[in-house]
Amino acid sequence: MSRPKRGNRFFEVRPSPIQGLGGFAARLIPRGTRVVEYAGERITHAEADARYDDAGMRRHHTFLFTVDRDTVIDAAAGGGPARYLNHACEPNCAPVIEAGRVFITAIRDIPAGVELTYDYAYTREGGADEDHPERYACRCGAARCRGTLLSPRLRRPRAAGPPPAGR
Ligand SMILES: [Zn+2]
Repeated sequence: MSRPKRGNRFFEVRPSPIQGLGGFAARLIPRGTRVVEYAGERITHAEADARYDDAGMRRHHTFLFTVDRDTVIDAAAGGGPARYLNHACEPNCAPVIEAGRVFITAIRDIPAGVELTYDYAYTREGGADEDHPERYACRCGAARCRGTLLSPRLRRPRAAGPPPAGR
C-alpha cells in the first residue's frame, strides 16, 4: 500500500515554512497553467457561518473559498489538493473564477521545488473579521508582506482614497 497522493501532477504536498503543509511545484509550471481546481462542497455564507464557529477558532477558515456573494466552497468537505496551497502576499498563483468554478492558475513561471501560493484576499460577509486580526496573521516572509490574509480592501484605505464607509 502506498500513501495517498495528496498533490497532483503539478505539485506535491509537504511541510511548508509558511504554515503547516504547502504545495510545491513538482516540475516547471509555465505561467498561465491551471494548476488545480479549488474543489469542495458548495455552500452558502450562512451555511459556512453555521459550520465554522468564528469565536472558537484560533486560526482562519483555511478551507473556505468565497466565490461570490452567494457561494462559498468548503474544501474540508470533499475538497481536492488546492486546499493545501498557502497564502502569500507576493504570490506566484492567482484564483481565476470561471462560471462559478475556481482554478488556481500560475501567474508567473514557477520553477520545480518552489512553493505555490496565492493571495487569499480573505473576506467574509458581515465584516466581523477585522475584530480578530490575529486569526488572520500572515507570516509569508515577502518583503512587502501586508501582515494579514485579509483582503487589502479591508485594510487601511489609502490616504488618497475615499474614506471608509459607515464609520
Ligand atoms: Zn504576507
